[in-house]
Amino acid sequence: MKWFVCPRCGADLVEDVWEELQETEDGGFVFDAHPVYVCQDKCGYMKRAEDTPRIIAQQGDDRLLLLYPNDQGRILDLRNSWIGTADAC
Ligand SMILES: [Zn+2]
Repeated sequence: MKWFVCPRCGADLVEDVWEELQETEDGGFVFDAHPVYVCQDKCGYMKRAEDTPRIIAQQGDDRLLLLYPNDQGRILDLRNSWIGTADAC
């Protein structure tokens, strides 16, 4: 898929997770993590995986649990189609 090619150098993009620790006003911390695509050749290109769901679990051979950027989870049945939704919390 063309989606997974670096626009800068043409190398493959690999899926990674960007992790961020932010300090809150009351002295606590908020941990934030989101999926990104980074250039395999490490040219510095990184793209947030905003538009694509992430596979977070697999049930059996033909069911995938996908997590969308809006924190919506969905079960994808590879034999049929969408069969339902699931909370991603
Ligand atoms: Zn690159």
